[in-house]
Amino acid sequence: MNSDFDLAAALEQRKAQSLYRNRITLESPQEPLIKVDGQDCLAFCSNDYLGLANHPSVKQAFVSAVDKYGVGSGASHLVVGHSTAHHELEERLAEFTGRDRALLFSSGYMANLGVVSALMGKSDAVLEDKLNHASLIDAGLLSGARFRRFLHSDSHSLERNLLKTEAKRKLVIADGVFSMDGDMAPLPELVRVAKQFNAWVMVDDAHGFGVLGRQGRGTVDHFNLDADSVPILMGTLGKSFGTAGAFVAGSHELIESLIQFARTYIYTTSIPPAVAAATVESLKVSIAEEWRRDKLNKLIARFRKGASELGLPLMDSATPIQPLLIGESERAIKISEQLKEKGILISAIRPPTVPKGSARLRITLSASHEEHQVDRLLSALEESYQ
Ligand SMILES: *Cc1c(COP(=O)(O)O)cnc(C)c1O
Repeated sequence: MNSDFDLAAALEQRKAQSLYRNRITLESPQEPLIKVDGQDCLAFCSNDYLGLANHPSVKQAFVSAVDKYGVGSGASHLVVGHSTAHHELEERLAEFTGRDRALLFSSGYMANLGVVSALMGKSDAVLEDKLNHASLIDAGLLSGARFRRFLHSDSHSLERNLLKTEAKRKLVIADGVFSMDGDMAPLPELVRVAKQFNAWVMVDDAHGFGVLGRQGRGTVDHFNLDADSVPILMGTLGKSFGTAGAFVAGSHELIESLIQFARTYIYTTSIPPAVAAATVESLKVSIAEEWRRDKLNKLIARFRKGASELGLPLMDSATPIQPLLIGESERAIKISEQLKEKGILISAIRPPTVPKGSARLRITLSASHEEHQVDRLLSALEESYQ
């Protein structure tokens, strides 16, 4: 092989820095009690916050839709891959978010790339929170717009950055709930500053939908912000809703613009119709079963109380994402491995996913966990975190 491509050296270096990634292989449905690599584990690392990924009626909706539509969608939405199942889900998501319309994308990553590139170009400016999800950062860079990052959840930093930009069209983007920290963006303040500068606001609420707001309508609903304040609202379906894919909700003009110009919408095959049909069902379950959010909140409170009594390094989060800040990658891995030996699965999140020196154990809770499982987690942490 061409020696310019010294892949082996780069891999070795990553290992030496304790940054090497290894996949584990799941042999069971996504639930609290799983089987990975032949070992039974109690897991605290999925984003299935409401416990819908393996829900009986969601599975049934999927199976029935396979009977009706088959498996593959066969084409992109603009050719012949847009089925009644996709259409119904879009209408329900529009209603759920209180927006004119919603548009399905194959993944959250693609939705973010598609939206920002469709709307923003060279003479525009994109302003993002430093801790935004990688897909949003990539979206800002790919769009070719002038790209600025403001300090995490700091509306003064946003304001200083807006003062420095001369672009006429400005787009401010934040995660609703930050994926590796669990804290909520200060959306009312960001919106207030954005309005002063006539900038648009886009919120990626991958971790807020299903969990926060009335009936799980998300972070924007939690803060009572309307479509005028947050004209671009993005959500994913693979987290609380337990399926796969993503959507963008907004005005007729926004959605039509995305259909015309979002390349990651146009040039890709639509998700299988059965996934859309299953999501229609999981959305119904999520709206109807308030007990899932109640239970989740009780588990979050139980975990935080126990962890703070143990003096564990909790972060400032009121959501199901409850990371413990460790610092060095090597130490985060070591604790994660010790926990795995005890049958508890938690991933060690390291740079570049999080800033240098801020490796952490990303603990996530789900409505399908039980109190005794949270207690088991706490006692395992007590032993491993020395
Ligand atoms: C998971 C996630 C995405 C990507 O969504 P996928 O559907 O998994 O591609 C985008 N933004 C945030 C904040 C996320 O957490």
